[in-house]
Amino acid sequence: MDVKQKYWNPILETLPHEKIRQLQLNKFKQIFKWTYDHSKFHRQLYDQTRIKPEDIRSFKDIKQVPKVEKSMMRDIQRKDPFPYGDALCVPLEDVAVFRQTSGTTGQPVYQPDTWQDWEWWAECWSYILWAQGYRPQDRVFIPFGYNIFVAFWAGHYAAEKLGCEVVPGGVLDTKARILKIRELQATAMMATPTYVLGMADTAKSKMDLDPSKMTIEKITCAGECGASIPSTKRRMESAWGAKVYDHAGATEIGAWSFECTEQPGGMHVNEALFLVEIEDVETGEIIEEPGRRGKMIITALDRQAQPCVRFDSKDVIEWADEPCPCGRTARLIKGGVVGRADDITKVKGVLLAPSAIEEVVRDLDGLGDEYEVVVEKDGDTDRIKLRVEVMPEAEDQCQLIEAELVDQLRLKTNLRYDIEICGCETLPRYEVKAKRFKDLRRKE
Ligand SMILES: [Zn+2]
Repeated sequence: MDVKQKYWNPILETLPHEKIRQLQLNKFKQIFKWTYDHSKFHRQLYDQTRIKPEDIRSFKDIKQVPKVEKSMMRDIQRKDPFPYGDALCVPLEDVAVFRQTSGTTGQPVYQPDTWQDWEWWAECWSYILWAQGYRPQDRVFIPFGYNIFVAFWAGHYAAEKLGCEVVPGGVLDTKARILKIRELQATAMMATPTYVLGMADTAKSKMDLDPSKMTIEKITCAGECGASIPSTKRRMESAWGAKVYDHAGATEIGAWSFECTEQPGGMHVNEALFLVEIEDVETGEIIEEPGRRGKMIITALDRQAQPCVRFDSKDVIEWADEPCPCGRTARLIKGGVVGRADDITKVKGVLLAPSAIEEVVRDLDGLGDEYEVVVEKDGDTDRIKLRVEVMPEAEDQCQLIEAELVDQLRLKTNLRYDIEICGCETLPRYEVKAKRFKDLRRKE
C-alpha cells in the first residue's frame, strides 16, 4: 500500500452515488438469497410475509423485507446448533471466532464469524483507520483487554493489516498504560471517550504528567457517541493534544461508519459494505432526505455466518446535506449517532436526547468531565436532576455556572432542570462505557 494514497479503496470510496446504490442493490439481493437459503430463522420470518429472494428488484422491495431485532436473536440462541441456534448459516465447524455483545441490559447475543467474516471485520476497520490518517509508521496503543468483545480486536487486526505496529495494552492498570504510551512513544490510540478522558485525568491528577506533551497524535473512539459531540471532542483533543475521530460499529452489525480527517461534523457510512436505511419512528417510512432524524435499519452486505439483514439497530441518525470535502462519495450522517431510540425519551412531553445535555455540560468552562442525569416522577410531573462537578478553580463561580447551565439547557433541550453542583471527584467514575443517564420512571 502506497502511504501517499488518500483512500484505502480508491475505487469504492469515490464511486458516484448512483453506482454505489446499484452495488448495494445487487449485494442486497445476494445476501438476502444467502440468508433465505441458509438460515432457518430468517426463512421462517420471510415466509410469514411471503417475500422471496426473486421478489427483490428495487429498493422499494427491500422495504418489504421484515426487520430483525436484537431480542429476536436472543430468543433463538443457546439452542442447536449450540450456542448460536437457527440463524447460523454455515456448518458449526466453519465458525472460527466467538464474540458477544457488550450491552449492559439483557442477555448478550452471541456472534459467530467464519475466518472470511473475520477478514471482512479487519477490512471494515481498515477503511476507518486509513481515513483517520493511520499509516504503517504509526505505533498504535490499545488500552484494553479485549476479552470476548469485537471492537478492539477488529481494530487491532486492521491496524496490523495496514502495517502499523500494535501494542495491546490489556491487563495493565491505567497508570501503567500511560507509562507504556510514554515509554514506547505511541502515536495513536483507540478507546471509549469515557476512558480517553479518564486516562487524561489520571495522568494529570495522580501522576503529574501532561498527556498533551506525549506523542499521541490521533485517537479513534468507539463504544459511545462522545467523539461526535463537539464539546466532548474538544475536551479530549485538548487533553491529549491529538485529533479525535469517531467511529460507530456493533458486534451484530460490523464497523459501518467513521469520521475522516476532515472532521466534517459527521461520519461517513461505508456504503460499499453496508446498506443504511433511516426509518421514521412514528410512520415507519424510509427517510431519504437530509435533516430528518429516524432510527437506523442496517444490512451488512457481505457478512455470512450470522447475517445482519435489515437489523433494527435503534441508533438515531440523520443524513447530512453536504458532501464531505475529503472526496469520499459515501454519504455522511450529521453529528454521528445522536442517540439510541431507547434512550430518547419524552420528558414533560418533550423529546430529550441525553447527548444534548452532554454537549452543554462539556462546553462550560469550570465544570469537570463527569455528570449525571436523573429523571424521576414527582407526583404527576417529571423532574430532571442534573449533577455536575465544579473544578476547584471555579468554586467561587457556582451561581454563575448554574445560571448559564439552566439557560443553555433550556435553549438546547427546551426543558428545565434542577441543578446540583458537586465537588470535584464526587460523581461515579466509569472505566469503559458510562451510564450517566438514569430514567427512574421506567422502573415503575
Ligand atoms: Zn470525509
